[in-house]
Amino acid sequence: MPDSQPRPPGGAMADTPALVLCGARLADGRTVDVRIGGGRIEAVGTSGSLPPGAGAARVDLGGYLLLPAPAEPHAHSDTALTADRTARSPAPYTAEDVQRRATEAALLQLGHGATALRSHVRIGDAQELGRLAAVLQARRSLRGLADLTAVAVPRLLTGLAGADGLAMLRDAVTMGAGVVGGCPDLDPDPTGYVETVLEVAAEHGCPVDLHTEGAEPARLARLAALAGGVPAGVTLGPCAGLAALPAEVAARAADQLAAAGVTVVCLPQGGCGGVERRGTERAGGVRGVAPVRLLRAAGVRLAAGGGALRDMSNPVGRGDPLEAAYLLASQGGVRAADAYGAVSGAARAAMGLPEVRVEAGFPAELLAVRGERIEGVLSLAYSRIVIHRGRVVARTSAVREYCDSAESGAPELPRQGRPGAGP
Ligand SMILES: [Zn+2]
Repeated sequence: MPDSQPRPPGGAMADTPALVLCGARLADGRTVDVRIGGGRIEAVGTSGSLPPGAGAARVDLGGYLLLPAPAEPHAHSDTALTADRTARSPAPYTAEDVQRRATEAALLQLGHGATALRSHVRIGDAQELGRLAAVLQARRSLRGLADLTAVAVPRLLTGLAGADGLAMLRDAVTMGAGVVGGCPDLDPDPTGYVETVLEVAAEHGCPVDLHTEGAEPARLARLAALAGGVPAGVTLGPCAGLAALPAEVAARAADQLAAAGVTVVCLPQGGCGGVERRGTERAGGVRGVAPVRLLRAAGVRLAAGGGALRDMSNPVGRGDPLEAAYLLASQGGVRAADAYGAVSGAARAAMGLPEVRVEAGFPAELLAVRGERIEGVLSLAYSRIVIHRGRVVARTSAVREYCDSAESGAPELPRQGRPGAGP
């Protein structure tokens, strides 16, 4: 299991000692050495060509596939890890409790490989801005390990009750929420809600990230029309309701989202508590997922996130990007490489983060997974090494041993068939 205690954050990136990753396999089949310094990839050369200089650390990545690190575009840090306790007693949601769980959840996700996370945090209700303050505190304690961004999620933004929500949303952005979010479908005036969110986002130059099931085509069309004018970009998720619409209606909605440049973050592992899921369940879907093939065919920017991490809406949620990619590949009809792209490159783009490639000059945000090809990595993704800002920040090692067979001792396998690559 990953170490759940945060280690002391490192100093400035420039102080990070050089690191050489040796003998790593790349997705294109090459085996390479990768030299990292100052938080960036400095050089990529054939295996054995980049000897670590004095003072540089060396990590042997023989048997590992080296990939751009995943990012988590849709987390819920404030409710994470509450599924167990709510059965016994209502969650207290004190500041200390939220901060501790947000930190622990981020470390779990970091252990899976997500070096950047975007977390939706409820504001208003009884805690007002307390949950957000606690998540921002967790963000500070994680510095050097993972980058956490908070999305402020107000309850109501229209009518009499909405005035308070709007004031609090402005305070939330001033406090440090980097993204304006919310659930327009839960407001009596969804379009008014979206207009208010876009207004606050425009005032502060923030991106927008809204919850919707997308089950009402007319509402989604209005949203897409409004989203087209937001310079920092609009993200929608989880949009599982789109899957319940007649194919031609869903296809038209997808065209509108594509034309507006909206990114859809789907949640293959089963959604989150941010939206009502009755529509999809009524339509026969067991916790539906957005129609990923249809969205991709229409040219919609599609990323995938983890959603709920062991809270009431998904008590077994893992927050594992490789599992989200696995589900896209195994059930969503997406090629394995594209499925991994949805949780890495597309997720980073949705979060406004710079691109990562395993090439000189790119940020050293990397994930090494035991295995040779992306398909194998998504199938058996146990052993992982996570690199953030040029440092190894998490390492998970799995050991599997088989006992001898009853008949003749160790079973014989042809050399190539041996599970010697290990998990
Ligand atoms: Zn959500």
